[in-house]
Amino acid sequence: MIPYGKHFLDEADIAAVTDVLRGSFLTQGPKIADFEAAIASYVGARFAVAVSSGTAGLHLACLAAGVGAGDIVATSPITFVASANCALYVGARPVFADIDPVTLNLSAESLKEIGQQESKIKAVIPVHYAGLPCDMAAIHSVSEKWGAVIIEDAAHALGATYPGGGKVGNCECSLMTVFSFHPVKAIAAGEGGLITTNDVALYKRLLRLRSHGINKSDDPMLNPKAAQENGELNLWYYEMQELGFNYRITDIQSALALSQLGKLDKFISRRRDIVLSYDRALTGIAAIKPAQSDGRNRSAHHLYPVRIDFALIGMKRSQFMIRLRERGIGTQVHYIPVYLHPYYSSLGYQPGSCPAAEAYYNEALSLPLYFNLTDREQEEVVGVLEEILQ
Ligand SMILES: *Cc1c(COP(=O)(O)O)cnc(C)c1O
Repeated sequence: MIPYGKHFLDEADIAAVTDVLRGSFLTQGPKIADFEAAIASYVGARFAVAVSSGTAGLHLACLAAGVGAGDIVATSPITFVASANCALYVGARPVFADIDPVTLNLSAESLKEIGQQESKIKAVIPVHYAGLPCDMAAIHSVSEKWGAVIIEDAAHALGATYPGGGKVGNCECSLMTVFSFHPVKAIAAGEGGLITTNDVALYKRLLRLRSHGINKSDDPMLNPKAAQENGELNLWYYEMQELGFNYRITDIQSALALSQLGKLDKFISRRRDIVLSYDRALTGIAAIKPAQSDGRNRSAHHLYPVRIDFALIGMKRSQFMIRLRERGIGTQVHYIPVYLHPYYSSLGYQPGSCPAAEAYYNEALSLPLYFNLTDREQEEVVGVLEEILQ
């Protein structure tokens, strides 16, 4: 079976993990800071805070940005549910701005329109869909007028480059950027996430929120009298200063992700080769249109989404996917527009609000794309597509 995506591990990754298992720290040890420093330096941000998942990262980013009850958060409907759920976690209301039909990313134009309809947008969460960076300069110039903060959902985009240069996660146009290390993403930690920022106060707050809201001894204590005896910090003392969570990542996960990070550029370059050869092979198939074909040199190539005219081929997507699966080929649809999910319907969200997203959803299919997909396997995928379409 050729899946639509999968991780790749080598012996060095396994050795990195067993080293941690033989050492003294399974969690709260030095591998976490090593991993954070490596990512911060890779993307060009001052600070990085690793957490238990991308979802936890989005939740903490919303909290640290001061998003709360009654606030409005704008995001893209073509994303995984976590990009919007993080607003719900903090009592805010997500609103969905339509995608650009070409880039499939949150469109700055529709963001502007949403801003005119809503009273005040507190935060914008652009998603670099399939690894293609959003036009952050345009999104920033729209958001800035409302004083809205930007939290980038870069779960697909570790290693991608912005239109103006610079790596996704450098936070030049945003307050924070969130990554995921779920095995289907660019590098695997098992589960894991990370937030980058250039703001030292946010960095310290994120560290606290990740661990129950408990202050580390190098930050000012709120109750210095209890904290010290004769000017010396009491060894047993700590303070819970706000309500946080246990969103810590382990040293085991961090060691794996750090080892994987060393292969990231190689991963992306192989993924890009696969993407370019799909582009060439599919030009002969009228019913299948590759998406996001501008920006091949900037994308992290998390997914290879195509648009298929199912009416033209006279077959439903469900049938088409079954036919592919019968031939050992896995595909997936990324994504069902978030507001169409039953939970969002129960909150009052209606179909029809983002026509470009819904049009894309009706035609979307992600073809197999991962580092060790072989040329032969890819030829097999293309061959089977041609056969089914004949
Ligand atoms: C995977 C993903 C997340 C959530 O990351 P987890 O690590 O699985 O919690 C958030 N947003 C997008 C766009 C994703 O693809």
